Amino acid sequence: MEVRRTVAVKLDVDSADAALLEDTVDTFLWSAQYVVDHAFQGEYVTTSKTTLDDETYDEVREATDEFNGGLVQAARNKAAEACKSVVANWKQGKKAAKPHFTSPHVVYDHRTATFHDDYVSLATTDGRIKADYVLPDTDSATPHAEYLFSDEYETTGAELHYTNGNWMLHIHCKKEAECDTSDEETTENGTVLGVDLGVNNLAVTSTGTFWTGDEFDHWRREYEKRRGDLQECGTRWAHETVQSVGRKEEGRFKMTLHRISNELVAEAHEHECSVIAFEELTDIRKRSDASWGHKWAFNRLYEYVEYKAAKYGIDVEEVDPQNTSRRCSHCGFTHPDNRDGEEFECLNCGYENHADYNASKNIGLRYLRRNQTGDGGGAPLGVRLNSGTLNVNGEYDPPADDSARTGVHAESHSL
Ligand SMILES: [Zn+2]
Repeated sequence: MEVRRTVAVKLDVDSADAALLEDTVDTFLWSAQYVVDHAFQGEYVTTSKTTLDDETYDEVREATDEFNGGLVQAARNKAAEACKSVVANWKQGKKAAKPHFTSPHVVYDHRTATFHDDYVSLATTDGRIKADYVLPDTDSATPHAEYLFSDEYETTGAELHYTNGNWMLHIHCKKEAECDTSDEETTENGTVLGVDLGVNNLAVTSTGTFWTGDEFDHWRREYEKRRGDLQECGTRWAHETVQSVGRKEEGRFKMTLHRISNELVAEAHEHECSVIAFEELTDIRKRSDASWGHKWAFNRLYEYVEYKAAKYGIDVEEVDPQNTSRRCSHCGFTHPDNRDGEEFECLNCGYENHADYNASKNIGLRYLRRNQTGDGGGAPLGVRLNSGTLNVNGEYDPPADDSARTGVHAESHSL
């Protein structure tokens, strides 16, 4: 089997190289968008990578002044996957719009990036640059030491992200694992932490931790009140002040989201989860009960959790959220009347719990089920509860014994 890990490393980039990377990001996103636009031109959406490559490669290279061929192909792959996902949604009868790439990033592979011990060499719009890794100054075990610099792991590629003023490289590593029951393996097949995002509670985890929406409501009220006061003045000065108030309030609330994301990742790390599962953000954006502010907050929270979790080698995944709030996490019975506001009571088996908590368990279960069909390599074996786990059938597995804070035992790991 195969074990995969993603490690986030900050890059030391001077201003000249930063300008090149910005240009590379812009060109990469432009190229991906060009391919998507092309894919959507005909009567049917084209999703075949080969067809899209044949039809767009030369045009993209020409329009981008000979952008690196490997990056053009990576942009095309990105576009093809996004188109596939749209078509998959349509087939399920769901609405999905043409993809637009806005989040600043570039996908690298071995042709476009070379990973060295303390630096990486990256292809850009103008040759290659070298960027040193900025590593934590510590002797303790970090994901960098554990995966990135381990002889057992090989790097398979990376994504360059620009987040909060930093250039971050999310490096993908993998190793071939023996199917024995060594101690090492116990940490590889972890558990999944399910997370439900909502309006009353911003986030609820399958371990039963709730982050209420109170701070969010407070922030939004303040924001709207101050904007309202200032806008009544109607002067240009007031307009500028409105914007600066907006930025200040936004900054303050981002701090709250950073705190929540830190706590959420700590929750996953303490419970030795290898995956954090959220419902698909594109579906959240369509949800009618969520305001613009909630959607903004969910996106930020997801983004923060994703890069913070990568530091611990924890993956963040999205699952199809359909019926996660109506389905019983205990017996699987799905009915709209199972839920009444914040109360969940299963009409079939009588299971009662907080509705958002029930939904968080369903999100974790959905991730488990989705990954059952794969080769099982490194896939989580249970949904993490505060104590014990749920297996793929929704059955409760208590912790094996008190010394087993490590969660999952070697013997339950041989696949
Ligand atoms: Zn039930």
